[in-house]
Amino acid sequence: MTKGEDKRALRVAVIGAGMSGILAAIKLRQAGITDLAVYEKADRLGGTWRDNTYPGLSCDVPSHLYAYSFEPNPDWSHRFSPGAEIQAYFERVAAKYDVESLISYNAEVTRAAFEVGRWRLEIKDGRTDVVDIVLTATGVLHHPVSPQIDGLTSFSGACFHSARWDHDVPLAGRRVGIIGTGSTGVQIVPAIVDEVASVSLFQRTAQWILPLPNPEHGEEEKAAFRASPELLRATYLDLAERFQNTFARAVVGDHAQMQRIADACRANLDDNVADPALRRKLTPDYQVACKRLIMSDQFYPAIQKPNAELVTDAIVRIEPAGVRTADGQLHELDVLVLATGFDGHRFMRPMQIVGRDGLTLDEAWADANEAYRSVAVPGFPNFFTMVGPNSPIGNFSLIMISEMQLAYIMQLVELIRTGRYREVAPTAAATARFNAAIKEAMKGTVWVTGCRSWYLDRNGNPAMWPWTFERFEAEMAKPDLGDFDLVA
Ligand code: NAP
Repeated sequence: MTKGEDKRALRVAVIGAGMSGILAAIKLRQAGITDLAVYEKADRLGGTWRDNTYPGLSCDVPSHLYAYSFEPNPDWSHRFSPGAEIQAYFERVAAKYDVESLISYNAEVTRAAFEVGRWRLEIKDGRTDVVDIVLTATGVLHHPVSPQIDGLTSFSGACFHSARWDHDVPLAGRRVGIIGTGSTGVQIVPAIVDEVASVSLFQRTAQWILPLPNPEHGEEEKAAFRASPELLRATYLDLAERFQNTFARAVVGDHAQMQRIADACRANLDDNVADPALRRKLTPDYQVACKRLIMSDQFYPAIQKPNAELVTDAIVRIEPAGVRTADGQLHELDVLVLATGFDGHRFMRPMQIVGRDGLTLDEAWADANEAYRSVAVPGFPNFFTMVGPNSPIGNFSLIMISEMQLAYIMQLVELIRTGRYREVAPTAAATARFNAAIKEAMKGTVWVTGCRSWYLDRNGNPAMWPWTFERFEAEMAKPDLGDFDLVA
């Protein structure tokens, strides 16, 4: 027990120094856990906001909502602020709370094993650490997917994934190809179209797009936010409520809400794409929001510029000079960008995780990634995941989700800290029940209405939360200890 407090002194490791890891470090320390290490595989914090620096990057969740609830920022430049500003925000918050001093950089945890009641961590550089509790904060969208296209490596120009943007490659006056029409590809096209000689966007599947304008926050508005913490808080709550009552309901079965969103997407296409042939090519053949819904009022104007081309013939192969499509045409290019997304199902892998009795996470998740309420896995005591499987990750502020998950995890950590229990893990039965309920509820969601998307795992099950946000809030409020294996 620590002096003055009737609590065990725990050593805790947080893996990952992105949005969730920074949050965990701040909150754990505020709760009095000071023996804390944050391991980060890269040389800088920020997670996805560090990795993604492509032109046009912004967060399509309103900035005043996409921030820690305890660190509102009156100075956001736009309703949907650019990525660099978001990265700077995380760096500023980490500095303010002295999270930096806890982070080991270039320190990829390769193995975590539960041995005699504690977790032994192995770091790539040969170091080891032994801790009482592990929190993985490794994010969702951090394993870039390179497309399986013949000849990809034969391309003679510059070629890179959107999450590994090569800023040494000039774009001005050059012929640029972009493969992929997800949120990323749709943000890149308007950002570069006026600079490049030509942009060819290779579309395999059309996307529904909701036209959200992105106004600047003027100086007066920022001054008002600076002067009034109450106004900042009210704005945060108002944005959260608006999202929860519209989009969050629509995707899990509120048909009237979904119809409104679908009508807005349809009108966006009809009103803003003049040429009927192009409009046809841009019209999806699946339900709005089956794939992650894209927000942009800039894409349609950009793709209609004279130097922009939407290529819908399938890519046959990549050749040294460019992209060959099924109609036989060679699209000659100087630069090829792979906006082909991420594997959102690998979570903390390739880290090897070994729980009780030698059970590995790869074994536990051999059939599917199944966690208990996204935050814990049976057989892995005192091991918690932030933004784990089936977190509500679609089009909402993941920061709010992460804060709720952490508050829940902290209650479990507290059981260990007070000495009430030495080991805490969910039961296999409760986890199976939770996952069976998820599968059943998923049938009523938009994500299973017939489209290909990164939400779907290899079994075709969406890695999403199939219920309302209110249900998430309620389930995350307090752990039901009956669902846990508790070793005193
Ligand atoms: P994505 O949504 O997974 O889109 C990948 C794109 O690449 C799709 O258009 C896909 O086509 C295409 N593609 C993949 N392999 C291909 C191949 N072999 N040949 C041709 N096309 C291929 O990836 P993303 O755009 O990077 O976005 C991923 C997620 O990141 C988003 O859904 C979102 O959650 C997040 N994100 C958020 C923001 C934001 O503003 N908040 C911005 C960017 C990204 P198909 O559709 O046919 O599969």
